[in-house]
Amino acid sequence: MAEWWDKQIQRADLLAARSNGSKELLTFYAHLLRAQKGIYQFLRSRKGWLPSGELERDVPVLGDALPVLFKAVGSHGPGPLAAEAKDLLESNREVMGEMLMRYWHSPSDVQFFAKACLQPYLRWLAESGARPFGRETSVGERYCPFCGGNPQVSFLQNKETTAESGNRDLICATCLLSWEFRRVVCANCGEERPAKLGYFHSPEFDHVRIEACDTCKYYLKGVDLTRMGLAAPIVDEIDAAPLDLWAREHGYTKIELNLVGV
Ligand SMILES: [Zn+2]
Ligand SMILES: [Zn+2]
Repeated sequence: MAEWWDKQIQRADLLAARSNGSKELLTFYAHLLRAQKGIYQFLRSRKGWLPSGELERDVPVLGDALPVLFKAVGSHGPGPLAAEAKDLLESNREVMGEMLMRYWHSPSDVQFFAKACLQPYLRWLAESGARPFGRETSVGERYCPFCGGNPQVSFLQNKETTAESGNRDLICATCLLSWEFRRVVCANCGEERPAKLGYFHSPEFDHVRIEACDTCKYYLKGVDLTRMGLAAPIVDEIDAAPLDLWAREHGYTKIELNLVGV
């Protein structure tokens, strides 16, 4: 839904205007989100076409949608990314297709462009009723049930009026869809012993916390929508970048870096 993108964009604009330490990251992310919404709308409004879920077949159409993102990163991205974006704008379709296929078969959070380009594609794929096809995916409760992606961030929300303290969901780093997850469990290794699970937050970000695991030494951030209903987890997660610093200093590794590399 286009409204979903608008909500993320508005939140990024709002937090960028307010933020101290993460202003640059959020400003860049707002540009990225606008470009991703552009890709999403291009695909969605394509007459007589629906994504098949087999990326190789969909690349010819997807390729037409991507220049908006390369232009945005070329103009607003940090130096090395901006240079790469300009190269991609001038490269041929084959190079671009190869880049997407590489990520499709072995996704990684350091493949910035492929990840940024495929998020809106996968969202539209899900909404249009298809599924990713022709690739191996990881299966298990900590992987996205739609695309097999890693969790980017968790969030707590009150789903029913009877819920006392909210339910926990994970948002997929690859397709941005969310799925339900147990509350007191490591989203990386499945550790359940409370003594092994640590939480850290600072007064500066009252509704965001680090959820770390002492068994596997991985972490992700959690956004509490019961405290801050207006938050957009993937955006607020970026705003709270100073918490990542704390986690790294304490020897934890993030399950998946977000799109701006934090
Ligand atoms: Zn996913
Ligand atoms: Zn763990």
